[in-house]
Amino acid sequence: MKYDIAIIGGGPAGYTAAEQAAKEGLSVVLYEKNALGGVCLNEGCIPTKTLLYSAKLYDSIKHASKYAVQAENPSFDLPKMIARKKKVVKKLTAGIRMKLTDCGVETVTGEAVIQGRTDDGTLAIACNDTAYQASHLLLCTGSEAIVPPIPGLSDTDFWTSREALKTKELPASLVIIGGGVIGMEFASFFNSLGAEVSVVEMTDKILGATDRELSGMLQAEYAKKGVKFYIGYKVTAVHGKEVTLEKDGEGLTLKGEKILLGTGRRPVVKGFGLETLGVELSRSGIQTNQYMQTSLPNVYACGDITGFSLLAHTASSEAETAVRHIAGKGGNGMSYKAIPGIVYTNPEIAGVGKTEEELQAAGIPCTVKKLPMAFSGRFAAENEGGNGLCKLIFSEDGTLVGAHILGNPASELIITAGIAIEKGMKAEELASFVFPHPTVGEIIKLTADN
Ligand SMILES: Cc1cc2nc3c(=O)[nH]c(=O)nc-3n(C[C@H](O)[C@H](O)[C@H](O)COP(=O)(O)OP(=O)(O)OC[C@H]3O[C@@H](n4cnc5c(N)ncnc54)[C@H](O)[C@@H]3O)c2cc1C
Repeated sequence: MKYDIAIIGGGPAGYTAAEQAAKEGLSVVLYEKNALGGVCLNEGCIPTKTLLYSAKLYDSIKHASKYAVQAENPSFDLPKMIARKKKVVKKLTAGIRMKLTDCGVETVTGEAVIQGRTDDGTLAIACNDTAYQASHLLLCTGSEAIVPPIPGLSDTDFWTSREALKTKELPASLVIIGGGVIGMEFASFFNSLGAEVSVVEMTDKILGATDRELSGMLQAEYAKKGVKFYIGYKVTAVHGKEVTLEKDGEGLTLKGEKILLGTGRRPVVKGFGLETLGVELSRSGIQTNQYMQTSLPNVYACGDITGFSLLAHTASSEAETAVRHIAGKGGNGMSYKAIPGIVYTNPEIAGVGKTEEELQAAGIPCTVKKLPMAFSGRFAAENEGGNGLCKLIFSEDGTLVGAHILGNPASELIITAGIAIEKGMKAEELASFVFPHPTVGEIIKLTADN
């Protein structure tokens, strides 16, 4: 069996590549050892957002009186939330399977192992005791949770995001190790449902490279809601339900009925015969050029396996780039200038392009325009007492290079700024578009015009 393209991994990178390649008229085989949709659909983006929506609804009902609406004794049913999450995932994965079947992709359920590459470049892959050959190979094996070597951790019954998304019992207290995006989204979920949540972050701020001012505002918001933050603390040991921390030589012990790891993810580059090809690795994953080609011209890598962006929309965009290149359609390759990053807390943070801190660190001058979200009439109408900020960052010649928003629905607004960044727009051009009124998105025009 010889195909134009063999794809290992059926997550956003793999299934997007498979569909696009089939639409280009190429013969495609896609291997997936677990479930189509990968981490994103089965244990990442979609399950978290489904649960977070239930939590947000519950929060809104609890605070309905702010909007002159009375709701007596609101409650929630965690097992039913989990069941609904499963239903949403099932529907979406079935949709992907149908699309792939409709466009003629051969989908194989099983673990693929690369066998090698012949002198003419043909790639040999084995799956379920069947031998396959392909002219091109796409590596889309994704990433896995990092379990840090904290003394005592492996002896405890800790959660990663995978287990946390399945729990049918609300822990009374939860210690989250790692205040990145995943850690904060779970902090938001369990805090909304009433668990006592502590977040331990080793660096000097939550949310990694997210704009410092906005992440500080979000932290303050969650501190008001009762989340306890331990910033700059390193976890030194875990014993049963006790987590020992240290900062500047001072120790502290937290107790949590559950411990959740939000300590990052690393690319899956082992266990499927990659070493037989000898492709070059980078410090974080697989090295590629702008067309997602590895050091072997007919082997491509897309998505989390590159260790670069670890976002589903980057994965699918990289997959489209790779397939265009294989199909001889050229283009400029992958642009990372305007990849939005979202934190789906309540309120949300969305950012795209450069942050002030990043530019300052590189010694690049910039100007910043910012406005409170309440300058948008719609935001004021829908966010009683709500805080938020829109921040636009311009280079010396006035081109928009970054945009950062705290406030709902930041995730839905950020693409406007992303397009402006990708197109190299200046404030006047961005503000010259007609934004519908009243919308929260008007804040982008107002800030650009400010
Ligand atoms: C809790 C959580 C929340 C997230 N939320 C978001 C979000 O809101 N937005 C966002 O953009 N990103 C989010 N992400 C990240 C997102 O899930 C990933 O960036 C995305 O799934 C990467 O896609 P991928 O195709 O590279 O890899 P994956 O989705 O990891 O898919 C890789 C697939 O390859 C399969 N595979 C691996 N090896 C083999 C083999 N040898 N044979 C056959 N199959 C194999 C795996 O089973 C897996 O299904 C989240 C991640 C987590 C963990």
